[in-house]
Amino acid sequence: MTSERQAGEKVFLFNSDPERGAVFREIFARELPDIEVVQRGDFVLPERVRYLLTWTAPEEIDRYRNLEVLFSIGAGVDQFRPGSVPESVKLVRMVEEGIVRMMQEYVTLGVLSLHRDMPAYREQQWAQEWRARPIPQAPERRLGFLGLGMLAQAAIERLAPFQFPLAGWSRSARDLTGVRCFHGTKQLPEFLAQTDILVCLLPLTDETRGILDARLFEHLPQGAGLVHVGRGPQLDQQALLAALDTGKLSGAVLDVTDPEPLPQGHPLWSHPKVMLTPHIASVTQPHTAARSVIDNIRRHRAGQEPIGLVDRIRGY
Ligand code: NAP
Repeated sequence: MTSERQAGEKVFLFNSDPERGAVFREIFARELPDIEVVQRGDFVLPERVRYLLTWTAPEEIDRYRNLEVLFSIGAGVDQFRPGSVPESVKLVRMVEEGIVRMMQEYVTLGVLSLHRDMPAYREQQWAQEWRARPIPQAPERRLGFLGLGMLAQAAIERLAPFQFPLAGWSRSARDLTGVRCFHGTKQLPEFLAQTDILVCLLPLTDETRGILDARLFEHLPQGAGLVHVGRGPQLDQQALLAALDTGKLSGAVLDVTDPEPLPQGHPLWSHPKVMLTPHIASVTQPHTAARSVIDNIRRHRAGQEPIGLVDRIRGY
């Protein structure tokens, strides 16, 4: 291969772990052979890089002066500092079926764990106490989703057959079959007042930072539960601990904390009413992610908007 030809070829720079990068390389070679996949650390002329997949913007991003699309390896884009991605570059969050399927599993697990009182039964198990607790039925347990986007709607689809009454809250008005929809700050208290298990699937933005605070918990019915799968900085952890200790909240399933990892000895680790996982609710799966990125590159080349294109003003 001549150096002139190499210099003309478009490059997709995979700035993440080599194992997933190898999968991307193999699938691109089959499906988009005119784009060369280069891994972090490989030598590449910066001007050849047209597409970049990364978790955070590399320091030297301005060197990639022909960069057209930056793909986030995760479903969120809050990890990109404002101004770290040039305005001329399309910023695209990861939308792929692996993330969606795993989130459906996790939210179903979290909701059913709280619905069936698993934190309390875990405590009883540790105390070797064999005692049945009252069992409210699903049609009496109201679920409320903060955020009604792609992942919340996918989780709702899985939970609907259990017959929980369903509601959700978003920024703009939504109309979803079988879901009582609320929107905007004004309707938030009314939404919360009729939510027994609250699921947070909001993106992290200036508006949603710290949204899960003492004031919000006050609006929930006594003994409500929380499943938090958004982002750690949306939750006031001290307010959560206080609400759990007073019984305002009966339990919480947390996949995200602030900071991550949660420091050793933090009270959330050992709180009996908290079930905690290390940000694993859903993880980008390389085979499905590569196909979704390829589809998006094809859309971009055809002059269409990539799926998951981030609105820089809204921040998600
Ligand atoms: P999405 O499709 O962009 O949906 C976001 C939803 O949040 C939309 O319904 C949006 O309202 C709503 N929203 C945003 N800002 C709001 C505000 N200020 N007030 C009220 N509603 C607001 O996002 P998604 O794909 O469902 O993902 C949601 C988030 O899940 C991600 O951003 C990420 O933080 C988190 N996540 C976590 C994990 C994990 O492993 N824990 C994995 C993947 C994703 P509109 O409908 O009006 O736009």
